[in-house]
Amino acid sequence: MSMDPIPYDLPDGYTHIYSGKVRDLYTTPEDRLLFVASDRISAYDWVLPTLIPDKGRILTELSLWWFDLLEGVVPNHLRGTNVPSAVRGRAMICDRLEMLPIECVVRGYLTGSGLVDYRDAGSICGVGLPPGLKDGSLLPKPIFTPAEKAPVGEHDRNVTFDEVMMLIGQEEAQELKRLSLEIYRRADALSRERGLILADTKFEFGIGLSGKYVGQVVLADEVLTPDSSRFWPLLEWEPGQAQPSFDKQYVRDWLTSPESGWDRASDTPPPPLPDEVVEKTRAKYVEAYERLTGETFR
Ligand code: ATP
Ligand code: MG
Repeated sequence: MSMDPIPYDLPDGYTHIYSGKVRDLYTTPEDRLLFVASDRISAYDWVLPTLIPDKGRILTELSLWWFDLLEGVVPNHLRGTNVPSAVRGRAMICDRLEMLPIECVVRGYLTGSGLVDYRDAGSICGVGLPPGLKDGSLLPKPIFTPAEKAPVGEHDRNVTFDEVMMLIGQEEAQELKRLSLEIYRRADALSRERGLILADTKFEFGIGLSGKYVGQVVLADEVLTPDSSRFWPLLEWEPGQAQPSFDKQYVRDWLTSPESGWDRASDTPPPPLPDEVVEKTRAKYVEAYERLTGETFR
């Protein structure tokens, strides 16, 4: 569940409108959106009581990097980075869109909840898959496995493509699928050049309400970060087991270890993270940034 938004000291004219688990949204004096990535980290649907230093800056920098690379592929919501000093580096100015209530997941490899569905049904979101696939297997081709975005506090629900068409109309559904697969294809190819596999990822899109992209499908939210995507080191990829990942692996492992003293089933909030887990998690986010962009994180 969402925590109180960090009380950023923003100038007059910025109004808080929403806080998710990781992000805080404000309207700007120009009626745009100030999209702030906090250092909060979530796991098992909880926001943890410990922050990961620099995480918000890393997510923001990575999104900016990808938006730039994807410029010719899809219009995006980014308008600038000239943000109030209280959120400098961790925030973007974006166009406010009418968000489409679909989490556009693309999977090139089988793992996570996709693997669970595959083992249950032999398919994911109505997309049939061949038998014999394992955790981490390369899929015959990337697949679009959407979910309906649930209200705050509830779980997103996997849906078939037919259901997406029913929810938002055929034309927009087809556009979401086409764009999602195209962005995945490009991003996976690029990640691969940097020694990483993009196993799966999630995009959110909205419809432009004004300006250049009015009425068009526009890429929103954060993109292709370790929070929205699974990146795996190419050289260590080995189907049939869990792959080392760039995101919250240390956090999840520690939370579910006896050491944490936390009972996931108990519905009580998770405990604070030890310094070592914080440091290792931060290092993973930094590593993802540095490997993808080839730049040193400062
Ligand atoms: P969760 O904590 O499960 O991720 P969430 O997606 O609601 O929930 P955040 O990702 O922290 O929470 O918040 C980002 C929110 O901003 C999302 O609800 C997303 O749909 C919304 N959003 C992203 N880009 C735009 C945009 N350009 N215009 C309007 N809303 C946007
Ligand atoms: Mg989100």
